[in-house]
Amino acid sequence: MPPMDADQLRQYLEFYQDLGVKTVYKKEAPAGSRAEVAAAMPVAEPTPKPVPPTPVTPAPSSESLLQILQDIGDCHRCRLHEGRHKIVFGVGNERSPLVFVGEGPGADEDAQGIPFVGRAGQLLTQMIEGTAKKEGINIRREDIYICNVVKCRPPDNRTPEPDEMEICGQFLYRQLVTIAPKAICVLGGTAAKAITGQKEGVTKMRGKWFKWRDIPVMVTYHPSFLLRGYNPENKREAWEDLKKVLHFVYD
Ligand code: URA
Repeated sequence: MPPMDADQLRQYLEFYQDLGVKTVYKKEAPAGSRAEVAAAMPVAEPTPKPVPPTPVTPAPSSESLLQILQDIGDCHRCRLHEGRHKIVFGVGNERSPLVFVGEGPGADEDAQGIPFVGRAGQLLTQMIEGTAKKEGINIRREDIYICNVVKCRPPDNRTPEPDEMEICGQFLYRQLVTIAPKAICVLGGTAAKAITGQKEGVTKMRGKWFKWRDIPVMVTYHPSFLLRGYNPENKREAWEDLKKVLHFVYD
């Protein structure tokens, strides 16, 4: 982890607060060190509000995605390592202006080590490429970056537990800081809560702009949800959300 100044440290702690973490423990460290400052920081109650998007020029990060992946290593930091086959770090363009964030890998992703390659992933690809083509935006799936809140498959595809998201959240945080996209598109309620800190369900949040640090965040339905049952209205809404985020990023 690169050294942080006070502002970066505050944002880092706010990220954990958004994940539901209320207490920060101090590791052994010399008096007056950064860890001590982190432990002493009061974590305020969240007051996030939806905000309209404003393009930002994010500060460049000093580490690469490869360094973050190397840091993850053969991760045993939480119980999700027990059942995993492959760590699913992320895929796509490290310099993408747009990052999609899902919840966690499923069986296909766990087998291949690549996010969104199963049925939901195929739908996501169609949604991105189909919407882009229709809107005259020249991008393919490989032009953007895709990752998840947790990097190992939860057993039986259950929702990741708060402590799992907390532990893995440090890597998502670093991925987002490193890529510094112009916008983030969050897929589904679990990822939406983790990234925005909002408690509302995805139906209320979708189609609206939130912020992660200074980066505009669009929330939409998870493609797995869209694959369930007959829900043409939800599909139409998801396409509208994608149109919004693609135009914001690429116009
Ligand atoms: N669902 C997710 O949230 N992420 C994946 O990578 C696949 C399915």
